[in-house]
Amino acid sequence: MRFTARAEAAFRRRGGRITRARRALLQAIERSSRPLGPRELQERLASEGVRMDRVSVYRNLGALLDLGLLHRVLGSSAVRPCAEDERPPRCHHAIVCTGCGSAQEFHSRALERALAEVRRATRYQVQGHLLELRGLCERCRP
Ligand SMILES: [Zn+2]
Ligand SMILES: [Zn+2]
Ligand SMILES: [Zn+2]
Repeated sequence: MRFTARAEAAFRRRGGRITRARRALLQAIERSSRPLGPRELQERLASEGVRMDRVSVYRNLGALLDLGLLHRVLGSSAVRPCAEDERPPRCHHAIVCTGCGSAQEFHSRALERALAEVRRATRYQVQGHLLELRGLCERCRP
């Protein structure tokens, strides 16, 4: 399912209304080839004649992040749609292009096993992990 349809279904399940502005926000996220921050999203909406104040942009993004339908690029305010179809998703991670900003998600059993080993070795009660790979995609590579 495409991001917009999935997000609208999730908002409806929570009793939320799909306003024109909200749909425009979801479509702007879906159409973008790279992660966008709240300000950029607001500007894209404005260029389409859709007004959404900053607080509403943040509130919508916050809800989508909580639902796991969006991910935030680590160390940035930019968000991108989750590509995972399975709900709830298995632990997965992303590799983000430092050239064009495109992202791809991946699963790795070997990686999760290695992290479980670290957890055992350190004896920490681990609550989660954040991991993102950075590099150049095929198109951006010289
Ligand atoms: Zn995801
Ligand atoms: Zn993981
Ligand atoms: Zn790239």
